[in-house]
Amino acid sequence: MDNPAASANTMRMPVLFVGHGSPLNITLKNAFTGSLEALGGSLPRPRAIMVISAHWLTSGSTRVCGAAKPRTIYDFYGFPEELYQIRYPARGYPEGANLVASLNKEVHSDQEWGLDHASWAILKHMYPQADIPVFEMSLDYAFGSRSNKPIQYHYDLAKSLKKLRSEGILIIGSGNIVHNLREIDYNLEGKPFEWAVDMDERVKRNLLKRNHEDLIHYLNMGRNASLGVPSLDHYLPMIYTLALQEAGEPLRFTYEGFQNGSVSMRCFQIG
Ligand code: ZN
Repeated sequence: MDNPAASANTMRMPVLFVGHGSPLNITLKNAFTGSLEALGGSLPRPRAIMVISAHWLTSGSTRVCGAAKPRTIYDFYGFPEELYQIRYPARGYPEGANLVASLNKEVHSDQEWGLDHASWAILKHMYPQADIPVFEMSLDYAFGSRSNKPIQYHYDLAKSLKKLRSEGILIIGSGNIVHNLREIDYNLEGKPFEWAVDMDERVKRNLLKRNHEDLIHYLNMGRNASLGVPSLDHYLPMIYTLALQEAGEPLRFTYEGFQNGSVSMRCFQIG
């Protein structure tokens, strides 16, 4: 990191939000995985990647993984055996984790975690060679508890990490904007539910207007808001990416669509 001219680029890296959906996508070739492949090929090559994961929930503080060799975590159950045989052997990036912890004292370093499927399921398509270092940051998230931090807290935390972009680090929020597993259609290609489409469209309009305020207070978007976003775990990674959007910086959708009827696969790039 101290000799930027020698290694990766130091321009301000874009920020991504990726809807990861079902672990079945890990081995599928479909329009969604094709869009990830194209995205990986189109971006400036990052020095490292930090994924803010919907699947790393820590209660009471935010964690950042400084492991030099992050393990591949199989945090999904009942899927085809072949998915549990795949490894994503990217190196970690302890320097990046240290930088995050130094930028925000509320983020603590961790050595135990690794790469859960919010990371490797998408990176396997974006960077199949696994030749870019990756590390994860958690969400401070207390399950079913009133002690959950407000969305604004997460937005402000993300703002404190702006500097990562100019250090060549690609930040990816990995979740799903609309994500209701209680209403799921077990057919991956099932027709999207009307309420899910409606909520996804409302979010889309606010993203295009750069209306972060309404996205933070999303429950004001009406009944379909609580149906579409019944819990915050998959929604918060998007909030982090928005906080990193500079004034006037463009946002473009790199994929739009649904899986399992109730899961929006919408992805976007900022910058
Ligand atoms: Zn997920």
